[in-house]
Amino acid sequence: MPTDIQPLVPPARTLCGPGPSDVAPSVLSALARPTLGHLDPEFLRVMDEVRTMLRAVFRTENELTMPMSGTGSAGMETCLVNLIEPGDAVLVGVHGVFGTRMAEVARRAGANVTVVEQEWGRAIDPERFRTAAAGGKFKLLCCVHAETSTGVLQDVAALRSVADELGALLLVDAVTSLGGHDLQLDAWGVDAVYSGTQKCLSCPPGLSPISFSSRASEALAARKTPVQSWYLDLSLIASYWGEERAYHHTAPINMIYGLHEALRLVLEEGLEERIERHALHARALVAGLGAMGLEPRVAASERLAPLTAVAVPDGVDDARVRGHLLRQFDLEIGGGLGPMKGNTWRIGLMGAGSTRRNVSLVLTALASALAEQGRTAAGDPLAAAAEVYG
Ligand SMILES: *Cc1c(COP(=O)(O)O)cnc(C)c1O
Repeated sequence: MPTDIQPLVPPARTLCGPGPSDVAPSVLSALARPTLGHLDPEFLRVMDEVRTMLRAVFRTENELTMPMSGTGSAGMETCLVNLIEPGDAVLVGVHGVFGTRMAEVARRAGANVTVVEQEWGRAIDPERFRTAAAGGKFKLLCCVHAETSTGVLQDVAALRSVADELGALLLVDAVTSLGGHDLQLDAWGVDAVYSGTQKCLSCPPGLSPISFSSRASEALAARKTPVQSWYLDLSLIASYWGEERAYHHTAPINMIYGLHEALRLVLEEGLEERIERHALHARALVAGLGAMGLEPRVAASERLAPLTAVAVPDGVDDARVRGHLLRQFDLEIGGGLGPMKGNTWRIGLMGAGSTRRNVSLVLTALASALAEQGRTAAGDPLAAAAEVYG
């Protein structure tokens, strides 16, 4: 038995990557409160409040709204395995890592998958979904609202009419948009959505909020085959979150405390104000990066606020820059994935991390890392950011 293991003291980092993001201090405190039993009346009250707040943040009246145990990918799998029966036709927009993952999960669930591909770094034109569907009928039309792998925002509302033409339910990945971008389930006609706690909600990873419209709930009830995953079977889990309170699996009690506080913070700040805050700091970041000669990868009209993808300048060593940031500034930013590996930085300003302080830190740290590789900025990044703040 090793006897020299010390109590855990993780370093204090600033997380400005693609997630997890910095956790709000009051969320960390909520996580440390005493664990209750999963059928304790006090805990049942917490669950009800979480559902009420989730509906407000998702902007929906959907009855079937709750957090799944597991990270964002568990939410993705929940939506897909509950709605897909073997042989169902599913259309998936793919322009990054998460669309690719959706298509793979759908295939494993037995769907007949058609992908609508788009170059990474661009949104997908709704017309491309129509063309790929070629007049056929589909059970689901799936898309990623905020592609964290590329920094692209997809217009979800515009896909509703396409889904109607295909007879499809509209399924949306809102892992990085919930609490950071405008997202309106009911107004946009979204049928199924999943998110995650560790992006713009500023809670640690571990839960995946989901919501099903009445149409999606009817499709679930009309299944001819049982849901392939027992753990993620919504018809079973809904009876624990609903009136029956039937035991399915032990709820991750303290994570739900954390989510409760995180959602409370979102509503206290105000959804609109929070979305505006994300947009403001993203604009300041892009202005500051521009002064350093760093270009965003995505056109302004398709760009995410919570995550900015930046091109690594030719001749600059990507890994060395990120290492410098971590060592000298305790600052984490993300590298690129897939075709963007080695040539892109992904800078997240999410939830509690979307602040002027973090914009200044990222700009200062990047300028230092570039100077270390012999590149001095032409302009003044902090002054350029300050101009946005006015
Ligand atoms: C992070 C992320 C996921 C996956 O979430 P995990 O918590 O890593 O399982 C899915 N989709 C998008 C858009 C994401 O950003």
